[in-house]
Amino acid sequence: MRPFKLVSRDYQADNTIIKIEGPVQPVFIGQGYCTLIAGPCAVESRDQYLELAGLLRDSGAHMLRGGLFKPRTSPYSFQGMGREGLEILKEARQLTGMPVVTEIMDLHDIDDLYDSIDVFQVGSRNMQNYSLLEAMGRIRKPVLLKRGLSATIEEWLLAAEYILSGGNREVILCERGIRTFEPYTRNTVDIGAVVMVKELSHLPVIVDPSHATGKWRMVTPVAAAAIAAGADGLMVEVHQDPDQALSDGKQSLTPVNYQQLMVRIASLAQLEGKIIQK
Ligand code: PEP
Ligand code: MN
Repeated sequence: MRPFKLVSRDYQADNTIIKIEGPVQPVFIGQGYCTLIAGPCAVESRDQYLELAGLLRDSGAHMLRGGLFKPRTSPYSFQGMGREGLEILKEARQLTGMPVVTEIMDLHDIDDLYDSIDVFQVGSRNMQNYSLLEAMGRIRKPVLLKRGLSATIEEWLLAAEYILSGGNREVILCERGIRTFEPYTRNTVDIGAVVMVKELSHLPVIVDPSHATGKWRMVTPVAAAAIAAGADGLMVEVHQDPDQALSDGKQSLTPVNYQQLMVRIASLAQLEGKIIQK
């Protein structure tokens, strides 16, 4: 048998569909759906986030993203608003009726975030943080598990296995590019991994074309490739003024760019026979 069990198609042949209970209506990720998660890299201020959240809802996004705790390479870079930003995420959730996803970096923040957010994101740098994965196995909320910077597909699926074997069956896998020898792009997007993981596992797979490329001009073409390859959705970074963004501006779409992405993805989703929820 394969090293991963509960995650594997041998264990469950049918695709998992995850129901995310939003404040108003549920959002689905998995078989038959094309689900869009959008928002800035980080929550930067109340005005910034609430305005953007409204624009994204009107543009057809299903779920909001926004980092509170940012894992930055340099300790001198903006580290996120932390718990102070949580009130802003909560307000955006109420105002737009959209579920929210945010990254969890520290086990100690789980309780504080638990009732206010809908999906916990485990970032690339923490994909092999086994105590965090075990904690994600004990909760009863969906987890968005990003592929590690240099993780093989098997390591990634085994990380998901930690969560499932802990009792939480709701894991969304997110391909966000891997580190290779290529410096023109921030990471190298592994579209083949989407196809392979869908063959090996019943879990939904989405692609983050923002971190995968690091360049906003590449985001929509790579998003289209992801959907064509069978991804169940996308997670995209958007900012009103990317040049002024406190993190990841270079890979952020403007709201107008995001609307253009939606048009392209809507026609592809239709070709693939997938529903974009209203
Ligand atoms: C993010 O989504 O903001 C993020 C930090 O992503 P990753 O963990 O993929 O680098
Ligand atoms: Mn980012």
